[in-house]
Amino acid sequence: MKYEVVIGLEVHAQMLTETKIFCRCSTKFGSEPNTQTCPVCIGMPGVLPVLNKKAIEFAIKSGLAMDSNISSYSRFARKNYFYPDLPKGYQISQYELPICEHGYVEIVIGGTIKKIGITRIHMEEDAGKNIHESAPPKTDGGHYSFVDLNRAGVPLMEIVSEPDIRSPREAVEYMKKLRAILQYLEVCDGNMEQGSLRCDANVSVRPADQKELGVKTEIKNLNSFKFVEKALEYEIERQKKILDERGKIVQETRLWNPERGITESMRTKEEAHDYRYFPEPDLVPIIIDQRWIDDIKKSLPELPDTKRERFVSEYRLPEYDADLLTSEKHLADWYEEAVKLGGQPKIVANWVQGDLLRLLNEENKSIEESPLKPEQLVGMLRLIENGTISGKIAKTVFEEMYKTGEDAEFIVKEKGLVQISDAGEIEKIVDAVIAKNPKEVARYKAGEEKLLGFFVGHVMKLTKGKANPQMVNELLRKKLSGSHP
Ligand SMILES: [Zn+2]
Repeated sequence: MKYEVVIGLEVHAQMLTETKIFCRCSTKFGSEPNTQTCPVCIGMPGVLPVLNKKAIEFAIKSGLAMDSNISSYSRFARKNYFYPDLPKGYQISQYELPICEHGYVEIVIGGTIKKIGITRIHMEEDAGKNIHESAPPKTDGGHYSFVDLNRAGVPLMEIVSEPDIRSPREAVEYMKKLRAILQYLEVCDGNMEQGSLRCDANVSVRPADQKELGVKTEIKNLNSFKFVEKALEYEIERQKKILDERGKIVQETRLWNPERGITESMRTKEEAHDYRYFPEPDLVPIIIDQRWIDDIKKSLPELPDTKRERFVSEYRLPEYDADLLTSEKHLADWYEEAVKLGGQPKIVANWVQGDLLRLLNEENKSIEESPLKPEQLVGMLRLIENGTISGKIAKTVFEEMYKTGEDAEFIVKEKGLVQISDAGEIEKIVDAVIAKNPKEVARYKAGEEKLLGFFVGHVMKLTKGKANPQMVNELLRKKLSGSHP
């Protein structure tokens, strides 16, 4: 049986405000537990929430960047449920009247552009965090649960997509695009490890010729692109297998278990909460003036799609390069600075996509943490252009710059990496290599021309990679096809 996959994502993005959504507590990540709390965010009776204006601005920005309608009238509601990390007993969230509706984003899949609809974007507060530990220090070794309320009241945007996504790959591309847009807008740092961006995925499969949707399951709290892809792949196969065996899919919430590589049932629909939403009586409705929306619209930065198109037209980059380089704002900025300093656009792109990203990935660093600055790359490219170093040596220089933070010129001098471009000196070594390998010389002359690489390799080894490769190639060709019988 052929099936069609239907996926919708609910993405939670933590807004980059300095203070929480309804109080003045700091939102800084990584502080000691419960040091960023006050009577409002720990849910003391009698306190009143006051809405953070910056959060509204950020939500409007995001809505505009995703071509949404911004509601002139929206409202908060109480979502009631009990959990230790939610001391109020309810979460303040937008429900029937969200701030943004009916938007879309574009993703590039197999070279073609696909629109993914955005149903709504609404604001809400985050809950705290439960930490379960066994045998903490100086105790009886039992199991303990702790509650850290630093995160309680941190402003979130929930971005809900239409069920327009048709594969795990598309889901990842969609989420990457959302992250890029939010980062460009500087409304969310997009840090998935710290939980600033995470998603719940709704997924169902249906026979290819069936109109109505299949029964869906929801996979909760996916906090990396890899988990999104793996969890969806697993869940789709699981559902297909059930349908193949004429079984019934249960509507339920599932959790991704990364150790076992499977999704596991968390609760079924029967066990689902009834949240008993009702309008939040402590907050007035949000009325947004059209002029404010217009002002925010004017202040929007260049967004990823526009930048990608500009990189293609202005720098003549292939789509692939432009897409990758604009996938993160700081990466695009780093790249553009190097080009503005005089780097050839395509050559800079190659170094950034290849060596720089590889070295950063090895250390799990972001481009902002790069020890290498654009001017250093451009300085090294100048040394290649003027023949001081070869492209091969440049690889070593690049790694050394990255490791030490020194400039290329200094490294080249210090390590004696200046390219040998003295024809006489190279000729001596070429002659020696030819004299040492008579068998290979004979084979080359008999027509095995690919052996040229063998000779080049030997010359490079003897010169520690410093010989001018073009000269080595020319000299070897000349000598090998030369006057010898
Ligand atoms: Zn607070």
